[in-house]
Amino acid sequence: MKPGQFLELAYFGITTVLFRRKDPLMGSIILTDRCNLSCRHCAVGNITSVIYPYSRIKADMEKMYSDGIRILFLYGGEPFLWQDHGITLRDLVMEAKRMGFLLVNIVTNGTFRLEVPEADLIMVSLDGGRDSHNKIRGNTYDTILENITDSLSDNICIYMAVNNINKGDIETVCRTAVSLQNVKSISFNFHTPYPGTEDLMLTRDERKDCCDRIERLIDEGYPIFNLRSAFPYIIGNSFMTPCHQCIVMENGKQWTCGRCIEIPNLCSQCGFFFAAEFSLVFSGHVRVIFDMLRTYSRYI
Ligand code: SF4
Ligand code: SF4
Repeated sequence: MKPGQFLELAYFGITTVLFRRKDPLMGSIILTDRCNLSCRHCAVGNITSVIYPYSRIKADMEKMYSDGIRILFLYGGEPFLWQDHGITLRDLVMEAKRMGFLLVNIVTNGTFRLEVPEADLIMVSLDGGRDSHNKIRGNTYDTILENITDSLSDNICIYMAVNNINKGDIETVCRTAVSLQNVKSISFNFHTPYPGTEDLMLTRDERKDCCDRIERLIDEGYPIFNLRSAFPYIIGNSFMTPCHQCIVMENGKQWTCGRCIEIPNLCSQCGFFFAAEFSLVFSGHVRVIFDMLRTYSRYI
């Protein structure tokens, strides 16, 4: 990240904490819920399968930018399935950069060629070693590793959702990540028990065990993009929800924190580390703020 961008984000952070502002900083746009996979833990793919038109996505990006959002995530469904009359995901990333977003990131299942060098970060899901991953995401493990290896980008973040199928694979994923040249970091979430997927949820003790192991891996020098200072709050779900600095838009509709906010009682079982981390940072939690500055400056 360039120094000017860093200062802009720092100004946002300081004024948010001092004046208890609730303005958003980070926005996610759902380009489509269409997906080529049918993951075991998924509750969001292929509900409508609509691919929203370019004009809609552009209007959502403009709205976010005018609301002050400067960090943008494009996701799905599978965002690489998005296209409109020859306009591709790569064009959307370039458009967002032209608009002025400081960081433009993609969240993908990694089964398509990762040819968007303009993206600041490409988050690719890898849910364990080959066996666990394929059990959760179908027979896609080898394709994903191939696409990461062949990627035009060297700014890939491996993204693992830990559940009770793959909870033993945290170390394996870290070792795989560092063996791949284009991978810069690894990010973990815990499974959030969307209706119909409750059986995959970890208990509090299992979350604690996973966080202890992730901390050990951080100490061993693995490039883990999570904030250890937030772990106690994630284990106990004791952080404030929703996170007002995060916005999601789909087809012109907007939600604070996530679309999941509409599901009764889900926030009290949230497994999204970012929700905890951003909520703690912007409520002025000093240890987490320093942890974020140190960690993010390493991987963005
Ligand atoms: S890749 Fe993502 S959107 Fe597609 S089925 Fe899996 S979890 Fe759902
Ligand atoms: S805290 Fe945010 S991300 Fe977590 S379940 Fe609630 S709305 Fe979703």
